[in-house]
Amino acid sequence: SAGVVIVGAGQAGFQLAASLREAGYADPITLVGDESDLPYQRPPLSKAYLADKITASGLELRPAAYFDDHHIHHRPGLRAVAIDRPGRRLLCADGEAVAYDHLVLATGTRNRALPVPGAGLAGVFQLRSRADADRLKAALPEAQSVVIVGAGFIGLEFAGICAARGLAVTVIEAADRPMARAVSAETAAYFTRAHAGAGVRFLFGTGIVAVEGEGRATAVRLGDGSAIATDLVLVGIGVVPNQELAEAAGLTVGDGIHVDAVLATDDPAISAIGDCARAPSRFADGAPVRIESVQNALDQGRCLAARLTGRPAVYDAVPWFWSDQGPHKLQIAGLAAPADTSVVRPVPAGLCVFRFRDGRLSAVETVDRPGDHMAARRILAQGLALTPAAAADPGHDLKALAT
Ligand code: FAD
Repeated sequence: SAGVVIVGAGQAGFQLAASLREAGYADPITLVGDESDLPYQRPPLSKAYLADKITASGLELRPAAYFDDHHIHHRPGLRAVAIDRPGRRLLCADGEAVAYDHLVLATGTRNRALPVPGAGLAGVFQLRSRADADRLKAALPEAQSVVIVGAGFIGLEFAGICAARGLAVTVIEAADRPMARAVSAETAAYFTRAHAGAGVRFLFGTGIVAVEGEGRATAVRLGDGSAIATDLVLVGIGVVPNQELAEAAGLTVGDGIHVDAVLATDDPAISAIGDCARAPSRFADGAPVRIESVQNALDQGRCLAARLTGRPAVYDAVPWFWSDQGPHKLQIAGLAAPADTSVVRPVPAGLCVFRFRDGRLSAVETVDRPGDHMAARRILAQGLALTPAAAADPGHDLKALAT
């Protein structure tokens, strides 16, 4: 048998391979990845790794011996370029054709490029891969000032690290607040204050029209004509899913590779998981969503492994996420839509915001409150009813509700 072939040796692809072996899958598993590293975790790239608190081997999901011991055929540095669906073969950039019984696309996302002149100058960075992080780490000691384009999670985590190093930090964001797609206005305001308190300067409602410099970036030009001098520019303006393989093979795509409730594409021999997949979610009233998080990558990997070993189940895990910014930990349970209402629970320290959609709890955003976050995950998993009045009442114990 040709077994399972996985494209993308990231968080989701690796988890699928590991979970297949745990479930007793005995046929070949091939993990094709275009990066040269062993499969590694990305979250520390903008946290502990960038702050020099862990080394490169600390990023690795497993040591090299694991792959041999578990007969997982990891093929680093190999790029898949096409799918031959009738022949059930994955075609690779080196001319190789890898046969499959089941093909899994776990190709993740890539960073959206900054569409302005000068974006290619030296001193302009992005952060997605370990190689990106290494380039950034090498440049940071030379920098006194940084400009961050985009106040998303990665931009703000980087801002926190730079401010702690004593650098002058300016964050430029087109929206009127940070993390606008992902969190409530209340949580956004909390982090704006926290970062500003650490010396970070925010410019909201404005974009950059050019990066300027002779050979290397020395300034960014804003829409109003003004310029900000800088030694380093980090671009964090979102990602696009790596869906071209699926699209060229005639599978349905559209901001993600479309999969059904059990993570299958239109072709029953091909599935998709992780950041690149768009799957229906009960946390979005059944609508298909593409979620960029470690939790989603891991749980989709596990869900698909169960199906491929004879225990099919609908993907139903509660979404959750975290982001470490300066000294603060943001945690999100559930999936809020931007229009969801907010109920702020008065708490002595940190922040606790409940989001509601049509009177039903959709998500809970907490800052430095891990106990409340865990309770929120259980409440959402069990579909327990929580009224806005109860959410607002600190006397109403969350942990007692979620048993
Ligand atoms: P990835 O881990 O991106 O893996 C996809 C792999 O497929 C990549 O190695 C890619 O190179 C490879 N690939 C793509 N196309 C091909 C091809 N044609 N052939 C071969 N290989 C291919 N999430 C959180 O929940 N919390 C956090 O705090 C957090 N912090 C983050 C910080 C950073 C800096 C980044 C970049 C991400 C962070 N995330 C965080 C998001 C999280 O890392 C992703 O959601 C997760 O990695 C998704 O896993 P994946 O396997 O779908 O994709």
